[in-house]
Amino acid sequence: MNTLSRRFVSPLACLLFASAATAADPLPRKHSNIERLSLAHLAAVHVDVEKLKAQRVDIPTRPGVHDYRCILHAHAGDSAHTGGTLPEMLADAKKAGVHAILLTDHYRPPADFIDGRWRGLKDGVLFIPGAEVHGFLAYPTRSILQRMDLKGSDFVHTVTADDGLIFLSHTEERKDHPVVGLTGLEIYNRHWDAKRDPGSIVALGLMLTDPKPLADLEKAVRLYPDEVLASQCDYPDVYLTKWDEGTKQVRLTGVAANDCHHNQVFIVKMVDAETVLLGTNVDADDKMRKLTAGFRPGIKEMTRGRKPGDGLARLDFDPYYRSFRNSATHVLAPKLDEPAIRSALQAGHAYVAHDWMCDATGFRFGAADVKGETTAGMGDEVKLSAGLKLTARLPLPAYVRLLCHGQEVAKSEGKTEFEYAVTQPGAYRLEAWLKLDGEWRPWIFANPVYVR
Ligand SMILES: [Zn+2]
Ligand SMILES: [Zn+2]
Repeated sequence: MNTLSRRFVSPLACLLFASAATAADPLPRKHSNIERLSLAHLAAVHVDVEKLKAQRVDIPTRPGVHDYRCILHAHAGDSAHTGGTLPEMLADAKKAGVHAILLTDHYRPPADFIDGRWRGLKDGVLFIPGAEVHGFLAYPTRSILQRMDLKGSDFVHTVTADDGLIFLSHTEERKDHPVVGLTGLEIYNRHWDAKRDPGSIVALGLMLTDPKPLADLEKAVRLYPDEVLASQCDYPDVYLTKWDEGTKQVRLTGVAANDCHHNQVFIVKMVDAETVLLGTNVDADDKMRKLTAGFRPGIKEMTRGRKPGDGLARLDFDPYYRSFRNSATHVLAPKLDEPAIRSALQAGHAYVAHDWMCDATGFRFGAADVKGETTAGMGDEVKLSAGLKLTARLPLPAYVRLLCHGQEVAKSEGKTEFEYAVTQPGAYRLEAWLKLDGEWRPWIFANPVYVR
């Protein structure tokens, strides 16, 4: 699959649209992450999610193609900071309607992240082993343990030999990394949402050590679990800018980094009447933060009638099934096996969706010729011709933005169908947004159609 041409296109092609909005100017936000965490806002979001669910219409997939919900960048039993296990992941994949998981073990030699790890169908869910290593999601087809010291393009070629896949990961840390030779890159990363929002972490720490806010938070996680986990979700501007720059040169498959570890189980443990430990399910006691009633007076009320060592609170934010609903990469492939999923990802036959907002399954984006016949889908190249149109079909009316090399070239609101007459070559990608609690939030990111 690495022989697929990744031809160069002119970066000048889209200068025509230079005055329009860019990918870096998304729809404005209305609420801060901390505001989104309040019970009132969570409830309002939930009401809207339920309304959208009732409006959703099934879209049949194209003949011979299935829409598989896949999870890339997933951790289980692979480090001291990972809380979840493979059997737990499998059970949660079934619960969340996930078809395939592409694991990304933290590299810990001499353990091999290919040989000996889960591979193939397990109870109907396809597992493909891989690693998060050297700043990449690496999915070679066989063990490369003896060649892990290779650097730069030598490492990239080692991974991509024989249908291996490699995606740039945590793009915010490597904005200038070359993209030529890569399969693609993460265009969304759940972990980055958390990293760029230290304010919410501090707010959570304060809520967890005060009885009334703690009771509200427990209620929020019980009633609105998806909404709580997604409260930090923001437009991944840095990732998308990198992608838009990269696809001026080469085809690059955009994928979602779920980055799930099941390690966001927040725990408050009693030390004595005036002292508690605050941490997560992967923290040993000596790694937890010690807080006293001098700083958080509510601690005295929390410890009343309890004994040292007691757990005073335990809030599970990220069981795998909830992380899987939060963000996924939908892969359009003829069947559910490793070669078919690899091939579809290599070709960019995929889109990223936040399915907790509404199941995006069936979403279509592609090119149609003058007769209305579909000539290309996401990730494909198509020749510019008279009457060429880009078309999209969505399971719900949405706000749609069409971007060419990062410039917004068209938009529409409140429709399930989208059409755009193409007059210029370029890499065209589409975003769909849904309004929740009066706020537009990104829902779908389509891989580009490359008009040559
Ligand atoms: Zn990790
Ligand atoms: Zn990771």
